[in-house]
Amino acid sequence: MGKAFELKATSKCGTCKNLIKEGDIFDIIYKDDDSGKIKQLICDNCDVDDRIQAYRDTKVVNSKLSLEAHMAQYYFEQDGDLKQIRAEARRFYMKYKKDLLEIAEGTDKIKGVIREFETNHWIPYLKKYWNDSKERGHEAMVGKIKVLMWGCAGRVLVTVSFDDQSVTMIFTDEKSQLTPNGGQQGIDATVVVATKMLETVTSEKKLEFHPEEAVKLAGL
Ligand SMILES: [Zn+2]
Repeated sequence: MGKAFELKATSKCGTCKNLIKEGDIFDIIYKDDDSGKIKQLICDNCDVDDRIQAYRDTKVVNSKLSLEAHMAQYYFEQDGDLKQIRAEARRFYMKYKKDLLEIAEGTDKIKGVIREFETNHWIPYLKKYWNDSKERGHEAMVGKIKVLMWGCAGRVLVTVSFDDQSVTMIFTDEKSQLTPNGGQQGIDATVVVATKMLETVTSEKKLEFHPEEAVKLAGL
């Protein structure tokens, strides 16, 4: 890590060239991972444009985008008051309403399959398997889809992945919890791939997990 970053009076967004002032939201883009040298600053507006463009190009949804899409959905479709939120977020929601609602709708679909997984696998037998095991990392394969399970402090994460796309579910290990209350913890996949992977795994009769020391997941 280098020195703490300080804005100058002349600091500009590398993309739109607008001045970035104290209190503005911006990102620092580094030249590479190691040197700590700064390539450019990017204002929140341009950062958001880039991220939405990346989504449009690949349709890959990451956790940050998924969360933002649900916030936007809340403001547009429920009682949220758009006037109550900061101007940058409001501009983002308005400008990319269609993309954000598309993402929210897609991840709602994923949530439905996660619920099915919880009902058909987690609650009936996997939770017991987890609670009976001393190991914290477990793995199962369904064809080429890898299913990893890891947890601590009452929370268990189950990640389903294929190639470089993954989606992570979160459940409680509480024995008395018999109705589904889990959800999506993270995603780095297109909605189509995430849904397909989850459906494939969920349609298995029984998942055969085995302890796997190498399985350690961040995020708890
Ligand atoms: Zn900019």
